Amino acid sequence: MEDLKAFEKFFAYELTFEEDPVDILNDILLKAKKYLASEEIEAIVQAYEFTKEAHKGVLRKSWEPYIVHPLKATQFLMEINPDAISIQACILHDVIEDTQYTYADIEQRFGKEIADICEGLVKVSKVRYKGEDRGLETIKKTFLAMAQDLRVIFIKLADRIHNIQTLQYLPEEKKTKIAQETLKVYAPVAKRLGLYAYQLYLENGSFRILYPERFEEIMEHIRKYFGGGEKFIDKGIKMLTSILKKEGLSGFTIQGRIKSPFRIFEKMEKKYHTDDVAMIMDLLAFRVITDSVSDCYMILGIIHKYYTPLIKKIKDYIALPKFNGYKSIHTTILGMFRFPIEIQIRTRAMDNIAEYGVAAHYAYAEHNASVKASSTQNDWIKRLQSIVAEYTESSNKENFKDSLNIEILDKAIFVYTPKGDIKELPQGSSILDFAFSIHSEIWLRFKNALVNGQIKPLSYILKTGDIVNINTFKNRYSAVKHRLDYLHTPSAKGQLVKYVRIQEREARLDEAIEGLNAYLKALGLPQFRGEKDQIQKLGDALEVEKRILLVLDKQETYGNIVRTAYPELTKNLQDKTVVSDISTQQKELQKSIQTSLSVPWEEVIVDNDKSLHCIFCPECTPHVGEKIIAKSSKEGIKIHTMFCKALKTISYSSLLEAHRKSEPQSNTYTLHIQLQFFKNKITIVDIIALFSTFSIPIFKFELNNVDEEKMLATIEGEVSNPAKLAFLFADLHKNHAFLEVISKSIT
Ligand code: MN
Repeated sequence: MEDLKAFEKFFAYELTFEEDPVDILNDILLKAKKYLASEEIEAIVQAYEFTKEAHKGVLRKSWEPYIVHPLKATQFLMEINPDAISIQACILHDVIEDTQYTYADIEQRFGKEIADICEGLVKVSKVRYKGEDRGLETIKKTFLAMAQDLRVIFIKLADRIHNIQTLQYLPEEKKTKIAQETLKVYAPVAKRLGLYAYQLYLENGSFRILYPERFEEIMEHIRKYFGGGEKFIDKGIKMLTSILKKEGLSGFTIQGRIKSPFRIFEKMEKKYHTDDVAMIMDLLAFRVITDSVSDCYMILGIIHKYYTPLIKKIKDYIALPKFNGYKSIHTTILGMFRFPIEIQIRTRAMDNIAEYGVAAHYAYAEHNASVKASSTQNDWIKRLQSIVAEYTESSNKENFKDSLNIEILDKAIFVYTPKGDIKELPQGSSILDFAFSIHSEIWLRFKNALVNGQIKPLSYILKTGDIVNINTFKNRYSAVKHRLDYLHTPSAKGQLVKYVRIQEREARLDEAIEGLNAYLKALGLPQFRGEKDQIQKLGDALEVEKRILLVLDKQETYGNIVRTAYPELTKNLQDKTVVSDISTQQKELQKSIQTSLSVPWEEVIVDNDKSLHCIFCPECTPHVGEKIIAKSSKEGIKIHTMFCKALKTISYSSLLEAHRKSEPQSNTYTLHIQLQFFKNKITIVDIIALFSTFSIPIFKFELNNVDEEKMLATIEGEVSNPAKLAFLFADLHKNHAFLEVISKSIT
């Protein structure tokens, strides 16, 4: 929800019974006049006059004159700057279904194009959600495909938005049904087309109908947070942009939005299993989109440096993606505003997946070669979206005439099972392809097929809308090789080829075994797979069968097989002696030279305590200007340079910050650490969270894949109190089964 005000207006909509249709029309015309010609405006008025007459005397359930509905729907349509044809068609949209006028009447008065759109709307209305989520994806696609012209979808969505807005006047049962259908089919279609505003209306409008009390409660909560009218989104984007730029990042984009009531509700239900709205803290969310995965983690580190993260709310869906392929980093921070803020960090590719769903996922999966169908699907959705976006922006609507034809029709068909389920198949699919798409038992036992009630030959090519009923043999398989000619889909072809191969192999194997047994019998040896048979022990069943089959190809002989299986029949075993290597060992010398001569030579402040007495390490003898660090030992506190040998082996708990009195500020130290960890066991965010716990800002974060399972993180962070590192390493060590510290040092 980008604008709370617009949203409030939508839901505050109450019928006044006084709204004059002419006022609504004028509002439409006012917008249309900005980009349409005067003849087009005139045509819109004519559509209005005709529709008003057609619906004359009819009232909606809300007691409004019917004409108010198509006009209100058209007002929503105006949000995408539609062409004149769409505006007329939207005003006329219920005429064919609800009045005495027919397609022919509309065609005669307004032309074929408008009549076709009106008829398309009738067709699309027949695609129904039956309260079952199985096959939902196909319903959405059918919805799009049935429309043939994208403008039909635009109008249908606008129509549904107004229906949802005024749904309270319908009987309870019908209300629920329409709201559910809107939520499951219409809102996702709007989302898919990138019509974000429509999606919001549809989702939240349905939500309000399905759970009125929850809706009000959440709206109240949102008002409480954002009622002050502050420009939180703009302000937040500016703040985030400035800190990221300050840290040297570029090439990122930041978006912000208030979570819509429906999204909040979803989160309460699915994630927190709560009905307490206050549990949802991240009402305001920002999204940072960047180029690379390592940038994502860098950005997370930077944000945590400036704002306090809620450690438990850091989620790394990059390391552990959700089942639907969703990847992103989420963190919730305090300190930007007076309430917590959620920040999502992801790459552009991840953002595409999140916005357009799993279809997009496959197109971005670099290593997956077998996903052609899915990426075609994805291309199609992306193409649709870009058409919709361009259409909405452009002032020259004429250019879009061709592209508004939904092209999926060239690629896919939708056919019904006798039960009314919809199957999606590539264009050119046959009855057998359909049978393959249902179940293996169906195509294996295929007898014949009825299409729309008539028996059709195997060569029949299916069309969208066909109802296909397959008859099968009860007690036998009928699949044969020559049916390959009637298959179009690669997966069906593959299955049949495989089936045929198995069939053929079995026949050949029978033949080969028969020959082998005859050979064995002649030698007086046991039959293959009989008692005391040695041949079956030559390997696993498949291997042995494969070898026997080679005889038919003349690449092996029965004699050879028998000689290997019964070696005592032919020759003696030849033993081999194995010479074992003698391993050598090496010894290492130990060096330990300790001198404890020391002379204090300058006053040093250790751990901000001026009273601590200390001595200088005689090994490294720090000079003025060299960075120093203190180490407590039996002999007292010793001051070392950062490169002193004495620092290599000590534990961090004995280290203390130290600086010369002449230096005004405490020293900070740079921690360099390399961690190797198992990707599936530890997430990068776990590691970053650990650094955050000890307030160690990270300023360098590099990731490298070690192998399939392991990753190497090279991290540099700033440490003001080196003793803290002991705790950090203790915590890192707790994960020692999955995480190994490869190297560590401070400078
Ligand atoms: Mn309508």
